[in-house]
Amino acid sequence: MVLEDALTDPHAAAPAQAAPVDATPIDAPRETRLWRPRRVVVTPAALEQAHGRAMVARAEGLGLAVERLKSNRITATRDADPRQAYREAKATLAIVVAPPTKLKLQPIPPSADWRFDLAEGCPAHCQYCYLAGSLSGPPVTRAYANLDAILGNLDGYLGNGNVTSAQGARAREGTTFEASCYTDPLGIEHLTGSLSAAIRHFGAWDAPVQLRFTTKFAAVAPLLALPHRGRTRVRVSVNARAAARYEGGTASLDARLDALGALARAGYPVGLTIAPIMPVPDWPQAYTDLLRAASRVLEGVHDLDLTVELITHRFTPGSKEVLQGWYPGSDLPMREAERTRKLTKFGSVKYVYPRDLMQAMRETISAAVARELPGARLLYWT
Ligand code: SF4
Repeated sequence: MVLEDALTDPHAAAPAQAAPVDATPIDAPRETRLWRPRRVVVTPAALEQAHGRAMVARAEGLGLAVERLKSNRITATRDADPRQAYREAKATLAIVVAPPTKLKLQPIPPSADWRFDLAEGCPAHCQYCYLAGSLSGPPVTRAYANLDAILGNLDGYLGNGNVTSAQGARAREGTTFEASCYTDPLGIEHLTGSLSAAIRHFGAWDAPVQLRFTTKFAAVAPLLALPHRGRTRVRVSVNARAAARYEGGTASLDARLDALGALARAGYPVGLTIAPIMPVPDWPQAYTDLLRAASRVLEGVHDLDLTVELITHRFTPGSKEVLQGWYPGSDLPMREAERTRKLTKFGSVKYVYPRDLMQAMRETISAAVARELPGARLLYWT
């Protein structure tokens, strides 16, 4: 393995303007950067769990000091400077036990029947991070030690979904479980091993089920030989090249696409999550180029099972406020006057692109998917 410097990697995504890249390399293959948290803590309750102890061993095996906490509460950093508090939280991995509420799963349309969490938080610095609207408090990454309970809990949801299970076109996917709503599970896999355990769990689960996750990272080598038995669909989260400047601390687009090809060749059902779609300069060509690059890495894959999900950029008043606090120097366009205000089904406000632009992007990019990736199933546009 080659020890690489993320900051000199010419293909690395540009760091967010106001946020330093905390993802420094350990022992990584080319173009793959592994996060090295500056602080790792473990709670007493997590140490009672075999998986909690395994995560501690992983971290210590990578040369990281692990602080044993006296209480099960993770106290947020008290720094008065919000930028410093953000930086410290983003550089912290906490090994904890998931609260009982995490065992009561929620539907997650249009992606999957159910959402479950192996962790919460992510070490990267995307200026349009979807977590901004859903996480509360400083963005510490919490990895859950009670993995057996989390995976064992899924049984009770088999056959009960209202998303893929209820749609004729997707029924063959079985009951689907999405693991990347509150984290990027691949971005922390070298420290947790939780994703590999989940893939094995679904591979051994003799039922019509599917594990789903999407990622902006690329260190897939440890996943390739796992006994997945086609029950895990891995999607890479990608965007037009012009958006790379908004995705600090992630793997480069080329590394993500290479990872997609490697996973497809290892027999995984795969997918592209194209998100968040934005009208970047010459967006029809920019998204066509992206689809062509994906097509190239998938060339020659036998029995390719490929899906595409198209997600446009949107924001809420709450997510905008959080993101502007995290990335005060960002030039990501989030002007309400240029958007259409909509109410979600829960009655909260979100801002999406105006109808004509939405329609033009939908028609053009959907047509490009059909043209450049004719074997792909387009799951949804949102
Ligand atoms: S990789 Fe995903 S979860 Fe992590 S910061 Fe970026 S958008 Fe957020």
